[in-house]
Order: sequence, then C-alpha cells, then structure tokens
Amino acid sequence: MEILKNCPVCGQTSFVLYAKCQDKLVSHDFFEVQKCNSCAFLFTNPRPSKDEIGPYYQSEEYFSHSTESKSLISKVYNKVRDINIRSKVNLVKNELKDVESILDYGCGVGLFLKQCKLDGLKVQGVEPSNEAREIASEYSISVIDPDELSTFLGQSFDAISLWHVLEHIHDLDEKFNELVNLLSPSGKMFIALPNPDSWDANHYGSDWAAFDVPRHLYHFTKPTFKKFIAKYGMKIVGIQPMKFDAFYVSLLSEENSIMKYPNAFLKGFISNLKAGSSMNYSSLIYILERQ
Ligand SMILES: [Zn+2]
Repeated sequence: MEILKNCPVCGQTSFVLYAKCQDKLVSHDFFEVQKCNSCAFLFTNPRPSKDEIGPYYQSEEYFSHSTESKSLISKVYNKVRDINIRSKVNLVKNELKDVESILDYGCGVGLFLKQCKLDGLKVQGVEPSNEAREIASEYSISVIDPDELSTFLGQSFDAISLWHVLEHIHDLDEKFNELVNLLSPSGKMFIALPNPDSWDANHYGSDWAAFDVPRHLYHFTKPTFKKFIAKYGMKIVGIQPMKFDAFYVSLLSEENSIMKYPNAFLKGFISNLKAGSSMNYSSLIYILERQ
C-alpha cells in the first residue's frame, strides 16, 4: 500500500476522512476516501500501489474487460453498452466535424474503437491489460501499453477519449500530461467520470458503488476536475450526462437488497430527475479544449 502525502490536485498536505468504503467486488477490504482540506478533492488513500493493484481487478464481474458474462445485470449492461458506444461515437463526431483520428486511453477490448473505425476514423488504443489488448487485436485495432505512449511523441490526435478510465491511473500527472501533448491544437478530449456530487452518490453514501475502491483512485467533482485540468492548460467546454449510469450504479449499490431491481429503477430515476438543473448526473462526460 502507498500513502499519498500530497493532494494529487493541489499538492496540499491536510486531509479529512470523507467515507470509509468497502471493496465489495474482490477483496472485501475497507478503504478510506479522503478529502483535501484545501481544494476538496476526494481520493482513495492509502491505496494499493501500481504493482499491487492487479489482483483487485481479478473479478469475473469486472465488465470492462470481459465480453461475455451471464448474469441478468451483465446482459442489460451489454445492451446498454452498445447504445452507449453509438452515442459516444456520435458525440465525438458532432463535437469535431472534421475528426480524422482518435486515441482511446483504457480502451479495454476495443469495442468503442471498433465502432469508430467502422465510422471511418483512424484509431489507436491504449490499454494496460494484455488479455484485453489481444482481444482488440482480433478486430485489427492497434493497441499499445500505457508505458509505450511516449513513442507517439510528435504525432497528434484530433480526439482523445477516456471513458471511466482517468480515475484508475496511478501516475496521473505524467499520463495526463502525455495525453495533452498528443492532442492536436484544435483537438478535444472526452472524459467520462463518476460524479460523487450526484443524488445517487449522496443517497448511498459510502455504499455508492461508483466509489469502487480501491480501483477508483480519484473521485472528481465538477469543481475539482476543472481545477485539475487547468494545471495542463485545459478547460471544460461541455458536459454531457450519462443517464444509464444512474440505474446501473444504483443497481450495484443495492446489491444486498431483496428489492434491488425496483429500488435501482426508482433511485436511478430520481437521480436523473434531481440532476436536471444542476447537471450533477451520476456520471458525466466532460469535453475539454485547450485554454
Ligand atoms: Zn487539494
């Protein structure tokens, strides 16, 4: 385990306990989410180091790397995922009319890039899992390990996407800096993150499934994300809701309830309703440009 002495966003050293959360997926251990007293950033601390985190991903239920799973949740999840992929591709094409190239960081088995490729884009994936990279290569998608990112130096991409990925990256500053350097001057980044300021997050508290400790190392809110990206000369130019996530995260958060399906439907519905004016949906897609 490693203990962060400095806030990953502002560098200050004073934190307070925000939530004590259990890893319900793999280890069943408890982890603290701490809040920076200076900038209010939420982060998992202490956390397994980069070398220790691997076993925490060893779960059949960890969908992002698995293509076939049999439970009802995963069937629904897969359907919704297909719809989500289409809407993500549409979002990128609407935001960047002349988009030619895209780099997807944390591309998993490459389903999003597969669709981008079918839509005529030049695609590049980045993914730490060997297994996932091998599956992606079956779709003839080029996928490299994150440690090979620097080999792209001097190249640029019109779009760079991280779909629920940024919160997993240990060497956050190094990798985000590399990605910003790979973005073309008028390019855009698309970053999806869970939102701990959402109604469902407040409702479930430390049981909110999207804390997903210890795999989620950071828990960005709109203000703390804005502060983080400003360090790299980036700004938010748009925010899109991910409405399905309210239902999915509620379902995972209701795991021990005998009424989990009706409860999750109700809570997801309320979360989306409450988010209407504040845009504090369960998950958000941030669209970024250079300042
Ligand atoms: Zn801070």
